[in-house]
Amino acid sequence: MELLRLIDVTKTYKTGDSERHALRHFSYDFPSKGLIAVIGKSGCGKSTLLNLISLIDKPTNGDIYYDNDNITKWNSKRINLFRGKELGFIFQSYHLIESESAFYNIMLPALIAGESEKKAKDKTNELLKSINFRKSLYKQKACDLSGGEKERVAILRALINDPKIILADEPTGALDSTNSELVMDILKKISEKKLVIMVSHNLSLVKRYADKVIVLKDGKINAIYRDMRFFSLESL
Ligand code: ADP
Ligand code: MG
Repeated sequence: MELLRLIDVTKTYKTGDSERHALRHFSYDFPSKGLIAVIGKSGCGKSTLLNLISLIDKPTNGDIYYDNDNITKWNSKRINLFRGKELGFIFQSYHLIESESAFYNIMLPALIAGESEKKAKDKTNELLKSINFRKSLYKQKACDLSGGEKERVAILRALINDPKIILADEPTGALDSTNSELVMDILKKISEKKLVIMVSHNLSLVKRYADKVIVLKDGKINAIYRDMRFFSLESL
């Protein structure tokens, strides 16, 4: 069953006299689990799509349903609950608190969601262990972590409140191939139980890991692949 349904979603940005259609008539039913990749040239609307799903932005037209509930009609209280507990966002540039430890960065959203310190710590330990994160790095300040380590901290932080949906904007954009594979292995594992929507430029990783691929062009769905063996560069 679909968890997230977008129906004829359009997002238009107005700057001065000109209009920019960042996303046009986008309709798609996202399943409740699996790794869905969104690809396409710079400016084709990938980040706009993630921003609409995460309610950072509102569609100009169209509706978005989460669990059969129209999220475009939600009040700020419901939006905050969604962002805090039901959705995890992995940002392109990590957005970690640089002066705090890896451990604290991961634990913080649980504390904000009202979890006890004991439970938040237990969950954080469990997550760190699940990806074999080096123990000597638990207390390391985020600013002293490598890019790959930061990315993994950002992923665990997105997971701490056990959301149903994980959004990731270019999670491997700044990583070398070894770290990219580590990160993709983690996202793939997560996608066995959750919906993971990932924006990526890395076609070879997308081919290897994604269950479905949506190709955007000028804000529209240009192609959808269930099997990347049939992928054609011309669809980009
Ligand atoms: P992508 O992530 O695929 O590179 P975006 O979704 O960021 O593309 O942007 C899609 C289009 O919408 C681009 O032309 C971009 O310039 C425009 N756009 C995005 N955000 C804004 C904004 N806040 N105001 C005006 N135009 C925007
Ligand atoms: Mg983008």
